[in-house]
Parts: sequence; structure tokens; C-alpha cells
Amino acid sequence: MQDEDTFRAEVRGWLAENLAGDFAPLVGSGGPGREHEFVRERMAWERRLGADGWIGLSWPEADGGRGLPWRHQVIFSEEYARAGAPARVGHIGEQLLGPTLLMFGTAEQRARFLPGIRAGTQLWCQGYSEPGAGSDLAAVSTRARLDGDQWHLDGQKMWTSLAQFADWCFVLARTDPAAERHRGLSYLLVPMRQPGIEVRPIMQLTGTSEFNEVFFDDARAAAADIVGAPGDGWRVAMGTLGVERGVSTFGQQLGFQREFEAVLATARANGAINDPVLSARLIEAWVGLQVMRYTAMATLGRSASDVPGTEANISKLLWARWHQRLGELAVDVAGPAAIVTGPGYELDNAQRLFLFSRADTIYGGSNEIQRNVIAERALGLPREPR
Ligand SMILES: Cc1cc2nc3c(=O)[nH]c(=O)nc-3n(C[C@H](O)[C@H](O)[C@H](O)COP(=O)(O)OP(=O)(O)OC[C@H]3O[C@@H](n4cnc5c(N)ncnc54)[C@H](O)[C@@H]3O)c2cc1C
Repeated sequence: MQDEDTFRAEVRGWLAENLAGDFAPLVGSGGPGREHEFVRERMAWERRLGADGWIGLSWPEADGGRGLPWRHQVIFSEEYARAGAPARVGHIGEQLLGPTLLMFGTAEQRARFLPGIRAGTQLWCQGYSEPGAGSDLAAVSTRARLDGDQWHLDGQKMWTSLAQFADWCFVLARTDPAAERHRGLSYLLVPMRQPGIEVRPIMQLTGTSEFNEVFFDDARAAAADIVGAPGDGWRVAMGTLGVERGVSTFGQQLGFQREFEAVLATARANGAINDPVLSARLIEAWVGLQVMRYTAMATLGRSASDVPGTEANISKLLWARWHQRLGELAVDVAGPAAIVTGPGYELDNAQRLFLFSRADTIYGGSNEIQRNVIAERALGLPREPR
């Protein structure tokens, strides 16, 4: 295996060589509030990443990955952020479904789905939330019924990020209507491009539409495309959520570092650093950044197929509130200019950061839910009444 310095040099060299020419305009594009930017080009960028082996770095070699330690994944993310490479449109497949299949999938499922994710040719979305089942995910009411060699799905998902670009969706559905709550659920892999699925975009505070409503009207999935046994979907879904709240967010922190540096640069330029309250908040933000980094580093010993524990809830709580405070600081540093948008509701980076980060304490499970999990699992406090 390459040592870390050689690997870092390889990543840096590859990015310099490839984030050029047709891909040069992608620098800094995409991400929260900006997912509409350069979509087709960013899909081509995914394929370029995949072709040169940069997707699934930590997946086992037997599953087509490069079997590299997490430390190498972190180095890749650091260099990726440093180069300003575009936000990934394939992150849900690589960072959520891939690890889920490594934890719970059969050999056939890993052989069938991981290559497309690794090649950057197959994009995924996450079909958990519904109008009546967000925090209370066990209340999922989208139904799936097995008939011959196919599941038939009916119902509605809500807030489905990037569904408009996705080829596939992992769907938590009720397959046993007689079973109570989380006991009757299954985790199905459903192709998005079929007549029984309709995707309707939802407008966000940022003026863009990154998440959607997804309607299933006798949509179909192959009988074999179920992860875990029928009725065992809750355990699989919780495994995915653990990855979503924890390890998968490591790369995101490097983006946070860049956002922090931009806020600091504005404060230097407009004199906000001379305001004692703002400068104290800048110091606090920097300290928070270091705390998140050390916390994430402490979880790096895990392998891609380990099921995460409460450290994922702790990490989600830490970064979500930190990022929201950074958004508040960004607009306070910008001052009165922050309350005026450009023509046609055009937002600058500070405004977009402030508005989009309101969602950080909601998605992937709200802060209240993270605290409930910590209360019950880590502290053994009484379960809340249901
Ligand atoms: C930007 C964004 C992207 C998203 N992407 C996806 C996606 O791709 N796929 C997907 O499936 N979902 C996605 N979601 C949905 C997200 O997971 C849910 O919004 C979240 O789980 C909260 O559910 P809810 O919106 O139904 O709110 P509710 O569950 O109705 O909660 C409303 C409020 O009540 C509080 N609350 C609820 N129950 C309790 C309790 N027991 N104790 C204390 N407080 C409680 C909550 O904390 C919250 O403040 C996304 C959401 C956002 C904002």
C-alpha cells in the first residue's frame, strides 16, 4: 500500500490534471443550495472519478474497492476540498448505500450494485421520510407487496434529496401490514426510471429545489432486490443512518473549513474582526472546527463494514449546530449587506450558508432525535412515552 505522503501527492496531481479543460468551470460548484449547477457536467465528473478508481477507496478489494484505510479516504477528501472540486452527485450511493450493502447485502447484491456506484454511472437517492413519518420513521406507510418475482409499491416519500437525478432509490416500505411499527418494514432497492414513479420538486428557502416528493403508484422492484430479510428493514435502515450521521460526513468538514476561512476573510476585509463580540465568535467557531476534526479522527479506525454506534449521533449533533452557528456568524460578519439579495433572489455564499444550514439540525434525524437516542442508548435514561 502507498504511504500517506505518496498517496496525497498522487491525489493532488490527479486533481490538478483532471480538474482542468472541460471540467475547470466545475471548481466550487454544487453542494447545498447549489445542486442545480452544472448537473450534467458533474455527472460526467463522477464517471471520471470512477474510471480512475477514486470512488469506494475504503471498500474491500474483494468488492471492487481499493481496500485503503480510512486515513487515505480522509487524505482524498482533504485534497478534494483543497482543490475546490465540485460537490458530488454520487455521494448517496458511495457513502450511504455502498456501506449498507457491505454491512448487510448478499454477495450477489454487492456484485450487482457496487460496480455501478464505483464507476460513477449509477446515482442513488434515499427514500425514508414520508409526510407522516419523519422523526417517527417507524410510522412508514408506503406499502410493498410481493407478487411473483416483483414487489409492487404504493405510497409517498418526502424530502427525497437528488431524486430528480437518481437512477435508483433505497426505499423503506411496509411489507407486513399486520406487524406493528418497525417490525413490518423492509429495505428495497427500487429503479427510479419506471412508469409507477413520479418525482415532484419542492422549493427550498434558498430558492432552489434539491429535494422532492416521490410518489409510488404500483411501482416495481425485483423480488431479489431486498437488503436483509422481509421485515428486517429497520435494522438495515438504522445501519445506513449510522453511516449518514457519522463517518460519511468527514469530507463535509473540510468544506466547513473552507466556509470558515471565507467568513474569516470577509471579517478581515470589512473590519468585523475589530468587533470584540464577532471576533470571540470567530475564535469559538475555529475551536469547534478542531473539536469536530479530532472527534472524527478518533472514529477512523473503523472498517467500511463495521456498524456504527452512538458516536454517529454525537458527531451529527456537533456538526449540525456548529454549522448553523457559522451561518449565523457569516451574515453577522457581512452586516447589513446580508439582508439584500441580488436580482432574482440571487444569494451570495454567506446568505446561502445561513439559509441552508437551518436544515442541518433536521436532516439525517433532528437534534432532538439524536439526543433521544443518546439518552436511551448511551445513558440508559427511561424511554420516552409513546
Ligand atoms: C435538506 C434536507 C434533505 C433531506 N433529505 C432526505 C432524503 O434524501 N431522504 C429522506 O428520506 N429524508 C430526507 N430528509 C428528511 C429528514 O430526514 C426529516 O425532515 C427529518 O427526519 C425530520 O422529520 P420531519 O421533517 O417529518 O419532522 P417531524 O418529525 O414532524 O418533526 C418536527 C419537529 O418535532 C420534533 N420532534 C419530533 N419527534 C420528537 C420526539 N420524539 N422528541 C422530541 N422532539 C421531536 C423534531 O425534532 C422537529 O423539531 C431531508 C430533510 C432536509 C431538511
